[in-house]
Amino acid sequence: MNTSTSPSPVAVVTGGARGIGLEIGRWFLAHGWRVALIDIDRETLEPAAAALDRPDAVLALHRDVSDPEAVRTGIDAVASHFGRIDALVNNAGIAVFKPIGETSFEEWRSVLGVNLDGAFLCTQACAPVMLRTGGGAVVNIASISGLRASTLRVAYGTSKAALIHLTKQQAVELGNAGIRVNAIAPGPVETEMAKLVHSVAIRSDYYDTIPLGRYGTTEEMAATVGFLCSPAASFINGQVIAVDGGFDAAGVGLPTLRRRAGQAPKED
Ligand code: NAD
Repeated sequence: MNTSTSPSPVAVVTGGARGIGLEIGRWFLAHGWRVALIDIDRETLEPAAAALDRPDAVLALHRDVSDPEAVRTGIDAVASHFGRIDALVNNAGIAVFKPIGETSFEEWRSVLGVNLDGAFLCTQACAPVMLRTGGGAVVNIASISGLRASTLRVAYGTSKAALIHLTKQQAVELGNAGIRVNAIAPGPVETEMAKLVHSVAIRSDYYDTIPLGRYGTTEEMAATVGFLCSPAASFINGQVIAVDGGFDAAGVGLPTLRRRAGQAPKED
């Protein structure tokens, strides 16, 4: 893009007040984009946006992505403020980790409402604005829990698996019009959400189970999202990239067998 003649591109990042979403916002700013951060948590959003110290390039909007009217007015506000939208990152998400029998219908609905309805509503609202300037890119933030089933994730895992299928539906339909839609499936990432739901024992299990033996960083998630929104990814559409240190690939990779394979071969 010739920045001397074209306005800088605009990204909308939901759940942008902290964690992975805020890091994605930083990535866009560092690469010459303007950013709208949308979040339900005003107390966290406003200082986070102010700390970015780019009032010319940052718009903070307090909205609930599961509320159709709030999404409609929010995306209208982004379009009138910046005049265009080139990328949307559906990152806002919540997790309830409970056994099936203890997950209330309200919890089930709220997880699906944010993680799935939010991505449906935001994409539906952004697409017509993107098309006015020739198209764009959408990245949905799914999870390893959408690729592999596990205990306690009846609502969260189902919402992320549905988000992965939604990504493909959106990619085939919106791709015709010039909007690419992809997803990333992060493994565990060191954020407030992870701190809330990962005990010390769970952490140690993850270290054992993930071939790279660690959590991912928010910077690693943001770099992959940024790539998917960039011209370098111009022929990538409808894909899910696991950014998980090999967690999804491991399958029956039992930690004991892997540890043995990781040892240096013995000399005869
Ligand atoms: P986080 O809890 O730190 O941040 C999520 C943000 O979303 C918060 O600022 C929150 O206020 C906002 N949000 C929640 N509900 C909202 C709503 N209804 N409307 C608008 N904003 C809302 O979480 P994170 O760890 O940064 O996770 C970001 C995304 O990455 C989520 O979709 C999550 O499911 C996914 N993910 C995280 C991990 C991990 O280990 N942290 C792993 C896989 C996937």
